[in-house]
Amino acid sequence: MQLETDYIVVGSGIAGLWFAYTVSKTSKVMVLTKKGDSDSNTNYAQGGIAAAVGSDDSPRLHLEDTLNAGNGLCDIEASRIMVEEGPGLVRALKKLHIDFSTKAGAFELGIEGGHSKRRVVHAADTTGQAVENGLLGTVRSSRNATIMEQFFVIDLLIDDSGQCYGVIAFNREDNMFVEIHAKAIMLASGGLCWLYEHTTNPRIATGDGVAMAWRAGCEARDLEFVQFHPTSLFGATIDGRAFLISEAVRGEGGILKTPDGERFMTRYHKDAEMAPRDVVARSIYNELRTRRLDYVLLDLSSIPSERILERFPMIAETCRRFGLDITKEPIPVVPAAHYSVGGIKTDLWGRTSVKGIYASGECANTGVHGANRLASNSLLEALVFANRAAMATLEDNGRNPLKISKIPFQCCLKSIEDPSLINSLASSLRQTMWRFAGIVRSVSEMERGRARIAELVKELDALYPQGTFSPAIQELRNMLLVGDLILQSALKRKESRGLHYVEEYPSVLPEAGHTILKPD
Ligand SMILES: Cc1cc2nc3c(=O)[nH]c(=O)nc-3n(C[C@H](O)[C@H](O)[C@H](O)COP(=O)(O)OP(=O)(O)OC[C@H]3O[C@@H](n4cnc5c(N)ncnc54)[C@H](O)[C@@H]3O)c2cc1C
Repeated sequence: MQLETDYIVVGSGIAGLWFAYTVSKTSKVMVLTKKGDSDSNTNYAQGGIAAAVGSDDSPRLHLEDTLNAGNGLCDIEASRIMVEEGPGLVRALKKLHIDFSTKAGAFELGIEGGHSKRRVVHAADTTGQAVENGLLGTVRSSRNATIMEQFFVIDLLIDDSGQCYGVIAFNREDNMFVEIHAKAIMLASGGLCWLYEHTTNPRIATGDGVAMAWRAGCEARDLEFVQFHPTSLFGATIDGRAFLISEAVRGEGGILKTPDGERFMTRYHKDAEMAPRDVVARSIYNELRTRRLDYVLLDLSSIPSERILERFPMIAETCRRFGLDITKEPIPVVPAAHYSVGGIKTDLWGRTSVKGIYASGECANTGVHGANRLASNSLLEALVFANRAAMATLEDNGRNPLKISKIPFQCCLKSIEDPSLINSLASSLRQTMWRFAGIVRSVSEMERGRARIAELVKELDALYPQGTFSPAIQELRNMLLVGDLILQSALKRKESRGLHYVEEYPSVLPEAGHTILKPD
């Protein structure tokens, strides 16, 4: 089957939906999403969206905090754009009937690690769900936009001049391949932390966008920077993902302690629990390793019970379901893979290095996070750069009329794949990444990680030769490719900076540089 539209969006999280909403004012757009329309990282965001909207705040202060967290690697121009354009876009989001928490008619603002001011706009502790639902409602009601659920995008179609003219997707509902052509393709396919054994991300976060962009010839940047969130609930998962205890809990006064009651973060950083995430995650990792602990405790006893229940109702309720009353007991926590800073390299307008392909949100790397993302800057980055990409696509397509010289896509459906074999290979990869590309890395372990991935690729190819397809096989191929790219990037960085800590190179080089990978 073949379809045509003006714009294709891969993914229905904040980046994809904001882009679709913006271009649908003038053009036809199809949003393809591989599961249900709200299956996204966006839907799970808790803390909120950082924006300098408070009376004591300014974009300049937000920029300073962003650059401090980024450890010398932020693209200053991109970061400046994000903090300056962010407040207006957050106000525009609010107009889409998103029920942000307010106080005396203004946004109620939270604070998280690394922020010098209260600037986290939120909807209690389910900000992502509120944003996702608000945007879905808006896009669904547009006559120009169509959301196509259960459409797994396999690859980008490139003509013989090197320009992208569409995608090949698989409709899971009727088991059909569909080729869709468009003037421009927006990759908004989210993150990759499902590559890790312990992660706060849902199953959709398999790095598909990075993998397909790489196969299409796009450059990838800074993939070694994977953010580990310091506090996920110990010993409990929901559909395979670790349950996040938002950083905002520490912002409200939560204190990290060892099980015997020692407050340890004061030994590691002057800002203690409010230190940047990489510092807190590594400190917890160090406590766990040196004291042979299974978890540390997040003590909420300084926060009044009513405040806990008002600010964190979903966290309180979820913990209660696991038998924990957080108004009375400390929360056992451990770090988990949470966010990909690196991704498909883009310019300030979401353009990748291949004509016709744009990217924004977690699959993209604009440079705003440098070597470490400041809490609650990712929803903001997605919003600001999806908005800019929408403007750029409208302009670029005026300049570059599309010429298609079709290359046929060939693939045969393998509907009888053995799920247990695929799951076991995926588990091996996820353990490999956790062990060899984790919070603290070493050169020999990263090399072992690459060797193990090469073995897994061989095993998969022997079972299912290239050309055979099912969504699960394709996701695993994508995960193996992206896992190897992360390790390649990590091995290239001969220093420890921000989220990337490697034992052989514990210090920071005087000059900060990006790690750029280019497909052959
Ligand atoms: C538990 C949790 C809490 C968080 N809290 C915060 C927070 O408080 N503040 C903050 O700023 N950030 C937070 N983050 C990070 C933030 O939620 C994400 O970075 C952001 O939502 C990413 O948005 P996105 O649009 O890029 O991708 P997503 O929201 O992940 O959407 C990706 C979409 O792409 C689709 N997709 C993927 N591959 C394919 C394919 N092959 N074919 C078709 N569709 C595909 C997915 O199904 C999904 O619809 C949190 C993340 C998690 C997991």
